[in-house]
Amino acid sequence: MSKPVVTIIVAALKPLYGIGNQGGLPWRLRKEMAYFKRVTTRTVDPSLRNAVIMGRKTWDSIPPKFRPLPNRLNVVLSRSFENEAVDDNILHARSVSDSLQLLKERNIERIYVIGGAEIYNEFIKSGLVDNVLLTEVEHTEKEEIEMDTFLKFDANQWIKSSKSELIEFTGEDAIDDDIHEDKFVYNYTLWQKQ
Ligand code: NDP
Repeated sequence: MSKPVVTIIVAALKPLYGIGNQGGLPWRLRKEMAYFKRVTTRTVDPSLRNAVIMGRKTWDSIPPKFRPLPNRLNVVLSRSFENEAVDDNILHARSVSDSLQLLKERNIERIYVIGGAEIYNEFIKSGLVDNVLLTEVEHTEKEEIEMDTFLKFDANQWIKSSKSELIEFTGEDAIDDDIHEDKFVYNYTLWQKQ
């Protein structure tokens, strides 16, 4: 059986790669959210969908009226779930490998891992992640940003792709540099396995 291609998509504050605080996101980056939606929804083959895999806590943090995330197959991981299709848009899985197994049986274009920390870190540790779409966030002011959740990302184990590779991978028409929103500045990047 061929190995599925798995991509992590995450926004993290440098240098420690903080991604969350008190169960929520530490920021509200409107353009970044729109990028996330476009990239995770876009397919080359119009007859296919992408899958988004998330932990139970990230699922819970999405307001009910916005979930499942539309036009994507939502896969939610919990150790207390049975492996099952809840409906056409939601799968439940009880482990990382079960989630990938369930997806093998379906016609999916890409698999995106969308958080949170526990799920990102388990996928990275598993060696099953081929690409990391990392939005590198920096803070433009001196005050500290409170973070309690971090991505275990070791940049030395990954190769940063060029901007044209990022554009090709995401299907975006163009990618801006140094996007300012709120008190943050950020850049979209793509990292691939060494
Ligand atoms: P997660 O969303 O990773 O969910 C954790 C839950 O997933 C666990 O409690 C468990 O559910 C289930 N789970 C974890 N591992 C497995 C496994 N191997 N098999 C089956 N189920 C599993 O929660 P975190 O608290 O780690 O992360 C949430 C934080 O991340 C928030 O602050 C959120 O805002 C942030 N985040 C940030 C993003 C970013 O791009 N900056 C993106 C997404 C989230 P159960 O307890 O039911 O068994």
